[in-house]
Amino acid sequence: MALLKIKKPRSLVYIFIKKVKQEAKAVIFDWGRTLFDSEAKSEFPEAKEVLEHCAGKGYKMAVVSLVTQHANSTLKERKRQIAESPLKKFFEIALVTDTDKDALFEQVVKELGLPREEIMIVDDRTVRGIRYGTRRGHPTVWLQKGKFSGELPDAETGRPDYVISELKELLGIL
Ligand SMILES: [Mg+2]
Repeated sequence: MALLKIKKPRSLVYIFIKKVKQEAKAVIFDWGRTLFDSEAKSEFPEAKEVLEHCAGKGYKMAVVSLVTQHANSTLKERKRQIAESPLKKFFEIALVTDTDKDALFEQVVKELGLPREEIMIVDDRTVRGIRYGTRRGHPTVWLQKGKFSGELPDAETGRPDYVISELKELLGIL
């Protein structure tokens, strides 16, 4: 009988990350402060390159947006921002709400029709997309940048698979 070898924790972490990279087939992006600069009210300059890269690799893409008092725009403005954005063409689904972001994620996951482990979530808020994703088995990327960069992951949000400080770092992940 062969003996089972127990791998070192470090190897296990590496294997897990490789698995995330190989399995993701779709990406759900947050809008405000992830793809779109809510303070300057324009798309982040690197957003187009990142989405083009993902499109070239065959990822299905969606965008979800929750408009709160932090959004620096009304629900109507946010809808127009996305509808008129040069980034819109990259998304199969774009949903905006001012109430329940988890409900938007649920709808997108259903429409994508893929297992959760194949759908990566990218968000600048640990308490929104990261929390949603880690609790349901999605790979997650926390963009630790800007207004909510101090909102550190905790037991409630779970630990994101990746932490990046610039959106462009996704080029090395996806
Ligand atoms: Mg955001």
